[in-house]
Amino acid sequence: MHRFTPVAIIQHMHNLAAQLNKPLSLEQLRFSNSFAKLPPDFYSRVLPTPLGEPYLISFNSAAAALIELDATEAARADFPVIFNGGKLLQGSEPLAMLYSGHQFGHYVSQLGDGRAIVLGEVMTSTGARWELQLKGGGQTPYSRAGDGRAVLRSTVREYLCSEAMHGLGIPTTRALCIVGSDEEVYRESIESGAMLLRMAPSHVRFGSFESFYYRNQHAHLRTLADYVIEHHYPEFLDQPDCYLALYREVAVRTAKLIAQWQLVGFAHGVMNTDNMSILGLTLDYGPFGFLDDYEPGCICNHSDHQGRYAFDRQPDVGLWNLSCLGQALLPLLDDQAEAAAEQAMAQFDVYKEVFQQSYSAGLRSKLGLRESQPDDMALAQRLLDQMAEERRDYTNSWRMLGDFNSAPGADNTKLYDQFIDRARFSAWVEDYAARLRSEQSIDNERRNTMNQTNPKYVLRNYLVQTAIERAREQRDYSEIDRLLRVLQDPFAEHPEDTDLAEPPPDWGRKLSVSCSS
Ligand code: AMP
Ligand code: MG
Repeated sequence: MHRFTPVAIIQHMHNLAAQLNKPLSLEQLRFSNSFAKLPPDFYSRVLPTPLGEPYLISFNSAAAALIELDATEAARADFPVIFNGGKLLQGSEPLAMLYSGHQFGHYVSQLGDGRAIVLGEVMTSTGARWELQLKGGGQTPYSRAGDGRAVLRSTVREYLCSEAMHGLGIPTTRALCIVGSDEEVYRESIESGAMLLRMAPSHVRFGSFESFYYRNQHAHLRTLADYVIEHHYPEFLDQPDCYLALYREVAVRTAKLIAQWQLVGFAHGVMNTDNMSILGLTLDYGPFGFLDDYEPGCICNHSDHQGRYAFDRQPDVGLWNLSCLGQALLPLLDDQAEAAAEQAMAQFDVYKEVFQQSYSAGLRSKLGLRESQPDDMALAQRLLDQMAEERRDYTNSWRMLGDFNSAPGADNTKLYDQFIDRARFSAWVEDYAARLRSEQSIDNERRNTMNQTNPKYVLRNYLVQTAIERAREQRDYSEIDRLLRVLQDPFAEHPEDTDLAEPPPDWGRKLSVSCSS
């Protein structure tokens, strides 16, 4: 007969619960805390500092499902206490991670989680790992002059945007809940504090590697790379050139990620290397913005005076950031500096090629083209040029193109009304129609696929601003929940919520967003 040890019994219970497909209570979450097993130089153990009298502002059951957490747990009286850092879950080993990074082009030798505390890493019954991080959880040894807090405004922005990105099919960190408090936090003005529970398989950044490279701690560098490979890129474990394979894969993922940002009109706003995920996820939502009018040079972060992180610079910045990671990995690539540099630089071409391929394929999908033909990019560019010169709404122009009726003499007034210079647009449409005929495109089929590529809903700044103001002024959180619901499924029509697809009213254009959060 099989003899159970206590650990095996617990494991057995977890398996049983999973088999029965029964979601878990908070106490049943299984922690593994792999990062806490790394050498102490990698992090500082620190407990969260709770805010006063916490209350739940929003809960995301889609994220709960990822960790197999029962969504009804959100109704527990101690739920806001737990995600305000006031009560530790069994098995959680809180810590703040060390990292550095290039900020606006300059190396800053110690950053680290100044206000985010990793509560631990939950393992699911399928072997998935989710690191739970409390953002705004109080000061850590890396806080420098900061208060360790996050304000309600910035948590709502990150919460909604990460889920909106996921809805769009773009790799991102996720968000489980926001807990609020009336405790005051000082920014440009007095605001109320809040905490966001963020989740990702790992929050390791490009800057995590830079710390150990610039400190000449190359053994730690190797340990970190081994950790990332073991837990997140196990396919490279037995490869002799595993570090090069890791770097190449990060180049590929970053290129694909940024191509997706460009296609959907997302500007990150502060692409410092400490905000670049080693898993190719969108990470650290601060002064981000979705384009309303198509303005390629749009600078959404009002602290970015030089426009370093302007929308159309993102692909180049991605490469620049990748070169910083490459430099940090040099000691692992080859003993000979020259050879190491050559290996790293060869990945720059991989990045450029993957970006171009992903972006072109994405533009073709946005146009509803199945086949690839030589003039497709020129055709797309002509449309983008007119959109830019006439400052047309990026999201709605693409979505409307899906309704194009190619029958001779058909009424496409609504689409034509979207542009100012009708003669120019109709010349483009003629070429577009000819291109569609060349692959026997069928309107209905094309509309269906285009509507899976061109979203109807994106998190426009004015929408999130409205939700924040209602939350702040009326303690009404329903708009946050409505945005969450619609943005998690942004390609569907949502007939009751079409107001959320409207371009911004005058007050909502060019809202200024800063790094202050
Ligand atoms: P960010 O610009 O948000 O990516 O943050 C850059 C660095 O500043 C990171 O090390 C953050 O942890 C830290 N930081 C940002 N805001 C605060 C704050 N209110 N308190 C402490 N550290 C902060
Ligand atoms: Mg950051």
